[in-house]
Amino acid sequence: MALGTELRSIAGLLPVSMVDWEGKLATLLFLRGCNMRCPYCHNPELVLSAGIGRLSWAEVGGQLREKKGWIDGVVITGGEPTIDPELEEIVARVRSEGLGIKLDTNGTRPAVLRKLLSEGALDYVALDIKAPFDRYEAVARVADMAGPVRESIAALVESGVEHEFRTTVVPGFFEPNELIDVAKELGEAGGSRYFIQQFNPGTVLDEALSAVRPFPSGLLEAAAESCSEFLPTKARGKL
Ligand code: SF4
Repeated sequence: MALGTELRSIAGLLPVSMVDWEGKLATLLFLRGCNMRCPYCHNPELVLSAGIGRLSWAEVGGQLREKKGWIDGVVITGGEPTIDPELEEIVARVRSEGLGIKLDTNGTRPAVLRKLLSEGALDYVALDIKAPFDRYEAVARVADMAGPVRESIAALVESGVEHEFRTTVVPGFFEPNELIDVAKELGEAGGSRYFIQQFNPGTVLDEALSAVRPFPSGLLEAAAESCSEFLPTKARGKL
């Protein structure tokens, strides 16, 4: 796709965030669509892609230029950015503004991730691990994703790009201490760090989950401590 053509994938923009890229001020770009259906997803409007506005690159580029000099970079999130055929072009355009990029991904498109990593296009990647690998389908609600996610883990570690892995824990799917095997695998692969994230009921894809109370914070902290045997791990979110 040549520079100058219009882009249609950017569903939203948050001008400044202090919490989505640790230690950095970032603009968030939200891409529409996702190939998973995690019931706890906080962006159902992006995942289902219905009735949402789309920003032109003129609007997005204008916002980025306005903030250049006091934001550190751009977080590309979703939805799932790697399923978007425009991702590469969006990355190139953000780069051409002289801004760094953090990518949030569910890791299901290792070829897309590997290409961006090999081109030096990404400065930081946050890769979701949805569940213990033998129970991926129950959380992601789509089959055969654990293999591609494992490929993405390997590609990310091999690239040397700064990264984190993260898992949101929701009562009813698996217990926090079941993530110890995940941490072991991530540690053996050479992963840098791992976050066990608290579930936040509210706007979620599966409304039945709105009534679910999160795990007590102590369970997450205890699991994080056990996982730290394999790679640095912390509990995160409203504990
Ligand atoms: S949590 Fe992420 S991977 Fe899951 S449905 Fe939402 S956007 Fe997709």
